[in-house]
Amino acid sequence: MEVFGEQAGRGRVKSRVPAGPSGGSGQDVGVADVLVVEDERDIRELLRRYLERDGHSVMTTSTGAQALLALVDQPPDLVLLDLGLPDIDGIEVLAAAKAAGISVIALTARSSVEERIDGLSRGADDYVVKPFSPQEVVLRVAAVLGRGAGVADDGVLSFGGGRLRIDSVRHRASLSSRDLELTPSEWGILVALAATPGRVYSRAELVNRARGYEYSGFERTVDSHVKNLRRKLGPEGAAIVETVLGVGYRLGLERDR
Ligand code: CA
Repeated sequence: MEVFGEQAGRGRVKSRVPAGPSGGSGQDVGVADVLVVEDERDIRELLRRYLERDGHSVMTTSTGAQALLALVDQPPDLVLLDLGLPDIDGIEVLAAAKAAGISVIALTARSSVEERIDGLSRGADDYVVKPFSPQEVVLRVAAVLGRGAGVADDGVLSFGGGRLRIDSVRHRASLSSRDLELTPSEWGILVALAATPGRVYSRAELVNRARGYEYSGFERTVDSHVKNLRRKLGPEGAAIVETVLGVGYRLGLERDR
């Protein structure tokens, strides 16, 4: 079983990885033990990579049966749970995790609003509909854990003294209390930049982080999405999404504490 072997080899170190020379001060979200339950290997490993980069200790399983075992043997702080598992219904794993007092973010391909609400009413703390941006999942993990800098009780991330607010649960952003009507690409770019305020992201990184594994042909359009995003942000747009000449873009606001 890959879950325990990989975990045992790495240890359970709960220390922060420095964000790098250009890293901002806003990345010290709470670190946690996260169990990823997902039968699609690419998605599983993508989530592992992003979560580990954010400092979390990650276990993975590809079946519901393994997940039920892991919940007992090595209870995590949070489960990222694919509801469409090959062996048992993901809802069963969800119920077991919630019974053990463990937070759950459901990963689901089901896209109808009714089914999403149904999933939430069964006790998931949050849900993400596939295809998703891995960076958004990382932000939601921080919101659900509720330990992160700038994460309010309602799971809203705030920046620049409350001016910019990103509600990853409800998929909404606002600037100075004005709701921003963002396209999925603009939302993805904003969320990617907000993951580490002050850090410079190249266009290629933004593509990767904003759209994830399922997308290509986006890089050349990053500039126009940024232009539109800035326009929606208003007069402060160019100061909030800063251009770093020859490199890329960064968020010009600090995450609030
Ligand atoms: Ca699946």
